[in-house]
Amino acid sequence: MKKVGFIGLGIMGIPMSLNILKKGFELTVYNRTFAKTIGLTQAGAKAVKTPLEVAQESEVIITMLTGPEAIDQVIFGKEGLFSALTDQKYLINMSSVSPTYTKELAQKLEPTGVKFIDAPVSGSKKPAEDGQLVILAGGKEEEVKGVEDVLLAMGKKVVYCGPVGQGSMMKMAINLLLGVMMAGMAEMIHFGQKGGLSKETMLEVLYSGALNCLLFQLKKDLFLEENFTPQFPLKHMSKDLRFVFQTAQETGAVIPEATTALQFFRIGEENGWGDEDFAAVYKVLQKMIS
Ligand code: NAP
Repeated sequence: MKKVGFIGLGIMGIPMSLNILKKGFELTVYNRTFAKTIGLTQAGAKAVKTPLEVAQESEVIITMLTGPEAIDQVIFGKEGLFSALTDQKYLINMSSVSPTYTKELAQKLEPTGVKFIDAPVSGSKKPAEDGQLVILAGGKEEEVKGVEDVLLAMGKKVVYCGPVGQGSMMKMAINLLLGVMMAGMAEMIHFGQKGGLSKETMLEVLYSGALNCLLFQLKKDLFLEENFTPQFPLKHMSKDLRFVFQTAQETGAVIPEATTALQFFRIGEENGWGDEDFAAVYKVLQKMIS
């Protein structure tokens, strides 16, 4: 079986790497904050102190990091993995980044010959724990096929989206809808409350009709308790909508709803709610009236 390396043990990276272990792959892990590797080593992974060691140990290297700055750091920074990349290895970036960043990264990696795939995921903490992520892959199709066994250890499905950068493009498209839907749910609850409806009544109606969906169900307790413990942090939605906005400027797409939603997630971040769940966009509306 392939030797796998995993870099970035955050909300998503921990369950994703645990699922790789469960499928029997030999796994080496790195995280900037070393303490977060403990659960993984207890489950059978080897923890190392630098990204370079991950790449030296592994045939398939996965990054699941905040965004471009973190990815650049682990690839090109001090004791980064760049010098260990060869045409015998795969590098899979599963972090959510813009298609432009992905294509620029692919160009920088080209001299190493590494098989580079962008494979961000649709799905949050719970699907990551359950191995039910939908994996949105960009790259050479035969190379994506070559690592399907590793990808399917973390997800229920791999959707091939096209050449490198198209996985990131698909991720931005689906997160555009996610951001707009979340902002819409928050606005509905805020609007109804102002008119004298209870949250319970509104949610009952929401879950009884055609608008019922898993996303809205997952947020039920967060809204009822107004406790926005993160499943998907607000700062990540703000980041993704910024990438959506930049991408739309490059392609000429017209995105009025996402542009409005971006403003509200930004205000949420400015208010210090970046580490709360992105449903905390509701607090932005509540604050505007207080
Ligand atoms: P997270 O919990 O914030 O974890 C971020 C990871 O990046 C941590 O391991 C962190 O290390 C590392 N990191 C940050 N800056 C770094 C740097 N400069 N150098 C080295 N490592 C650095 O994020 P997450 O929720 O797991 O999300 C990871 C990616 O998946 C993001 O691109 C996000 O948009 C995307 N995503 C998230 C979800 C979700 O529901 N959470 C769903 C789909 C996609 P430390 O532990 O040292 O801070």
